[in-house]
Formats: sequence, C-alpha cells, structure tokens
Amino acid sequence: MSDVIVNDNRLAVLDHSRLRANSGKPGAERGRISVRDVDIVFDTASGPHVAVQNASLTVRPGEFVCLLGPSGCGKSTLMNSIAGFVPPTRGDVTVDGEAVTEPAPDRGMVFQQHSLFPWKTVKENVAFGPLMAGVGQNEANGVARTFLSLVGLAAFENTYPNTLSGGMQQRVGIARALANYPSVLLMDEPFGALDAQTRIMMQENLLDIWREFRNTVVFVTHDIDEAVFLSDRIVVMSASPGRIIADIDVNLSRPREQSLLTSPEFMALKRQCLDLIRKETLNAFQQQNKAG
Ligand code: ADP
Ligand code: MG
Repeated sequence: MSDVIVNDNRLAVLDHSRLRANSGKPGAERGRISVRDVDIVFDTASGPHVAVQNASLTVRPGEFVCLLGPSGCGKSTLMNSIAGFVPPTRGDVTVDGEAVTEPAPDRGMVFQQHSLFPWKTVKENVAFGPLMAGVGQNEANGVARTFLSLVGLAAFENTYPNTLSGGMQQRVGIARALANYPSVLLMDEPFGALDAQTRIMMQENLLDIWREFRNTVVFVTHDIDEAVFLSDRIVVMSASPGRIIADIDVNLSRPREQSLLTSPEFMALKRQCLDLIRKETLNAFQQQNKAG
C-alpha cells in the first residue's frame, strides 16, 4: 500500500494513480477557480460591514496561489466564499465553471485550528470523507493510510488527535482533506500556530505533496516569507475592506528548500511584498484612529 519513501523527513511519492488523476497533465482542467466582481457584506449590529470589495481573481488548475494581507482584511472571508461557506453579496464564484453554492469535498479545506473529530482516531478521521463518499471500509482505511504516510504519520493511525502536537494535528488535517482527492485545496493559515522550525518543515512537506498531487491550492497567510516560499503567485489584499491590490508572480525555481529563504531572489520578492503590506497596514492604523 505504501507508495511513499521517507527520506530525511522529505517525502517522495512514487506513484498513485488516483493521486495523479487531478494532476496538471495536458487536458486535466480540474480546479479552475474564478472569482468575479465579488463583494461580501456582513450585517452587523452597527450596520453593514464590507469585508471584501470588488474582488476578481482567477486561479488556474494546478496553481499554488497565496492570499496575503494584514489581519482582518478579509482573506478568510474571500476563501470561505470559494469554499462555499459564505455566499458573495455581489458577483460570483465558480469552480470549473460551476457556481459555488455550498461546501463540497472536492474543495478540501484546512483551517488554522485543526477541526478533527476528537472522539475518532487519526485513521478514522482521515477515512471519514471517503466513507461518506460511499467507499467501503477497507478501501477507506487504505486511502487513510496512504495519506497518513504522505504526511509522515503512518505510525500514529490509531492514536487520538488530542495526544498529538499542533503540527501533527495539522498534518492529519491535510491528510483528511486530501483523502477526498479534491481538485482544490483551500488552506486558511494552517501553519499559523506553529513554531518557526516546525512551520518550515510543514511547508516543505506540503510542497512535496503538492508536487505529486498538483491540485489547485489557495493558501491564506499574513506571513510574507511563507507566501513567497510556497507560491506561484501572491495575491495581495488591502486592509479592510479587503480589495485585491497586487498580483505578484513568484518565479522561483522548484523544488524549494529552506536555503532559498536567504537567497537574493527571495529577498527581492519579500521586499516587494513588505512595501505593499507596510503601506496597507499604515492605512489600516490611520482608519482605526479616525474611527476611534
Ligand atoms: P482575515 O482572515 O483577513 O483576518 P476575515 O475575513 O476573518 O479577515 O474578516 C474580515 C472582516 O470581516 C473583519 O473585519 C471581520 O471582523 C469581519 N467578519 C468576518 N466574518 C464576519 C461575520 N460572520 N459577521 C460579521 N463580520 C465578519
Ligand atoms: Mg483569517
């Protein structure tokens, strides 16, 4: 069953036919996201609150895009509209041409805080999606083991989530999302609560998995290093109300490793993002001061 070799904590996936079903091969066109002219307005006690304003964004199949912006700028709200949790007030969101109206396993979601079932074992958590999709128990267990191997947790299949470290819980969350073979993986600050060294290892692990899986990834972060390290493109959002203010190509070669973090090309992209975010954060402070 194991298609995986573990090597210096890096994972190399040898082959898995269903894993490759969504890959970026010619003709594979699953996972195209289109966000058009989207406003998202919440009704609050103090009146309507515009969380996202006039956002338009296309993500190509197999692309790794980071949504980067200051805290509270509307990143989660925009991502939740792609996930199907939050309907746009204006405009539309489609995946592969179909309007997004509700969450679906084909759009896998990984949150900042794990959302595993505490009463289920690690394996049962990952097997849950396939079981719900009608896969038999044995096959679901096999799928769970495959994806737990991918995230380096094969040995923990029978443990309960609350006995694992934060990083391990997030890896289970990633395995659980992938076990549905989603064409789109939506990740909302999944490594935000982890220490720096765990975080970089998780980033490398994620890129190793994505290199084989090649599904579309939208990854929300407020961390510039993380955005530059991971993505093909960085979509920068303004302070609230969140607008898309820049779309930056990250033309750094892959595979990417920790040493990239100190390279001149990395620094140049980081500076470009830092300048944009700094301007936006200052704007946010000024607005808060005015409001206060
Ligand atoms: P980010 O993920 O960038 O930190 P969010 O998308 O969570 O930002 O939030 C954007 C803005 O929308 C914030 O001002 C937040 O308070 C507000 N907001 C988010 N969800 C709701 C909601 N369900 N009802 C009212 N306001 C909300
Ligand atoms: Mg958020």
